[in-house]
Amino acid sequence: MSIIEKDLHKALKTYFGFSKFKGLQEEVIKSILSGNHTFVIMPTGGGKSLCYQLPALMQEGTAIIVSPLIALMKNQVDAIRGVSKEDGIAHVLNSSLNKTEIKRVKQDIVDGVTKLLYVAPESLTKEENVEFLRSVKISFMAVDEAHCISEWGHDFRPEYRNLKHIIQRIGDDIPIIGLTATATPKVQEDILKNLAIPNAKTFKASFNRPNLYYEVRPKTKQVDADIIRFIKQNSGKSGIVYCLSRKRVEELAQTLQVNGIKAVPYHAGLDAKTRSKHQDMFLMEDIDVVVATIAFGMGIDKPDVRFVIHHDIPKSIESYYQETGRAGRDGGEGHCLAFYAYKDIEKLEKFMSGKPVAEQEIGQALLQEVVAYAETSISRRKFILHYFGEEFDNETGEGGDMDDNVRFPKKKHEAQDDVKLVLETVEATHEKYKAKDLVNVIVGKANALIKSHKTDELSVFGKGKDKEKSYWMALVRQVLVAGYLRKDIETYGVIKITKAGKNFIKHPESFMMTEDHVFDSTGDENIITSTKGGGAVADEVLMNMLKDLRKKNAKKLGVPPFVIFQ
Ligand code: ADP
Ligand code: MG
Repeated sequence: MSIIEKDLHKALKTYFGFSKFKGLQEEVIKSILSGNHTFVIMPTGGGKSLCYQLPALMQEGTAIIVSPLIALMKNQVDAIRGVSKEDGIAHVLNSSLNKTEIKRVKQDIVDGVTKLLYVAPESLTKEENVEFLRSVKISFMAVDEAHCISEWGHDFRPEYRNLKHIIQRIGDDIPIIGLTATATPKVQEDILKNLAIPNAKTFKASFNRPNLYYEVRPKTKQVDADIIRFIKQNSGKSGIVYCLSRKRVEELAQTLQVNGIKAVPYHAGLDAKTRSKHQDMFLMEDIDVVVATIAFGMGIDKPDVRFVIHHDIPKSIESYYQETGRAGRDGGEGHCLAFYAYKDIEKLEKFMSGKPVAEQEIGQALLQEVVAYAETSISRRKFILHYFGEEFDNETGEGGDMDDNVRFPKKKHEAQDDVKLVLETVEATHEKYKAKDLVNVIVGKANALIKSHKTDELSVFGKGKDKEKSYWMALVRQVLVAGYLRKDIETYGVIKITKAGKNFIKHPESFMMTEDHVFDSTGDENIITSTKGGGAVADEVLMNMLKDLRKKNAKKLGVPPFVIFQ
């Protein structure tokens, strides 16, 4: 070990009590200590904070840490103060401080006591703060959660956009450290560009989570029953079920409860007290399952979450990775199960309409990836890692057989001719139709629109009537994902043909179409269903319980009582 390495290990032990660096920490710290601009990409829980905390403590001057969340900053400051006798070693500078407190912070910085100064980007833009920071010694500037700078990230914050400008005003030769857990190549590029550190030394840890099992199941009307069945098969284990809307969270939590599962809801519409109570119940294992919107998760550190179920598919692979990443933190089993129906993608698309075109385009592209993930037949782990710019060989890689596609390969067949027919139909109908009407033409169903365009007189009309509509819809999606077709943003969903698509018509290539898994859902007597669904007739006592719950639910949420498994 060199002298520097010995010093580093000693400092690690003294300040944090750890005897070993985790992953790339040591290399990152050396890079920072050498004064390089440095870019760190590590999954959540990888130990990014220590990468800037340790060099800050070892160097002269104050390191400025930009972070988006006050709560996260406070935690970090408390932790750092815990390792030192000096209270002033770390401070937060934000708008909640009074004059005396601000004076104290500034004095500590001037005196060289403060090694880490945490600021939110808003506070950093304040003129008096910029002026002050210009006048003191700054060791480096770390931008934590740097993906907030990118519209392609899952948590864009406009205030992050100004950072480079401010950093330059504070001092134009300050080393800049960007850190993030979310690094698609696109976000990565955005971060380097916006922080203007194109030559930063980049350290990227693997995003592979070999202990997580990935699975996608078709989402049907029985989805609640499917979820209940899954949870019952995993009884006693901790899990999270993510839903898109607060209303759905409430409903599903109650459905689980009446089915004997210890579950609570969690979303931003609940008051702070209820939220923290439900979170504690989960951590203390008074309950097994939290049904939640994405509001649940940031900063939740329960190591033995055994499953993460998505009742609704999220709006990007990025979000899916983050949310499923909460399973199996302890390295033990973690089952990531997503329920997927293309209808949900269309719902997400609807949410985007009305937003600026650029934003819609990004949203569309991200959704396209989600569709591709859900409908792919390749290793899901390979797909996810590829999305993050990482090569993965599922024959040899760690966790290579941990997904449904690898364990239960999907059937495929040659669909070259069918693809050609789809593309020809798009051209023949002059790129005027959305997917549904295209398929109507292919199977030979004439509606008013098709009649008005006289599309029913074309030679492609009805040419694919030997196959189901659902087959053609699935094929159109796979052809979209393959890039032979694209959805027009301005006209909202009208299908256009791409250059590659035109080329395909002339020179058709092999196109292996994946057939959906068929999951046979065996009846389960333990699940309460409404008589409407034709399922088992529910026990009278439970039925009454349900009625009460529905009534309460209706009052509380202002929504009509819902019927389970309608
Ligand atoms: P990230 O910001 O990358 O999500 P954190 O900085 O919050 O990760 O660190 C995650 C956890 O790892 C923390 O509990 C931290 O104390 C721990 N940790 C960091 N470095 C080490 C290390 N060298 N040895 C052991 N634990 C570490
Ligand atoms: Mg962090």
